[in-house]
Amino acid sequence: MEIQDNTVVSMHYTLKNNAGDTLDSSEGREPLTYLQGAGNIIPGLESALKGKKAGESLDVTVEPAEAYGEHREDLLQQVPRDAFGEVKDLSIGMRFQAQTERGPVPIKIAAVEGDKVTVDANHELAGETLHFSVNIETVREATKEEIEHGHVH
Ligand code: ZN
Repeated sequence: MEIQDNTVVSMHYTLKNNAGDTLDSSEGREPLTYLQGAGNIIPGLESALKGKKAGESLDVTVEPAEAYGEHREDLLQQVPRDAFGEVKDLSIGMRFQAQTERGPVPIKIAAVEGDKVTVDANHELAGETLHFSVNIETVREATKEEIEHGHVH
């Protein structure tokens, strides 16, 4: 059966960046299972998988706009060091959850200068061109309940 909206796809994948570093892989784990057409995976990968069948393998390159978006300078913000309370050793790359009006947002420290800390709320993979190698294991029709919920059960 072909991958179309409202099918449940199970696949193994390896994700690399432009430099060829492996960022993520389902190797040695259960395959990734998702509901096609429900925005469960990034748009560029979802559209590349459309029409493919179980047993097929494909390599897909996804530009940032169809993945996790471009890196946005307006998501960088300077905050006082006091905002981190008792955390003593703030260093570049440390990750925190920022409490915002829209709920918790993962942030990363981008710079520390004196009493000023620059935090970055971009997605970890924002601005990255992603290279997926995918092996499609199974494709089945989604149940009515899965379609209603927008995810696989
Ligand atoms: Zn559900």
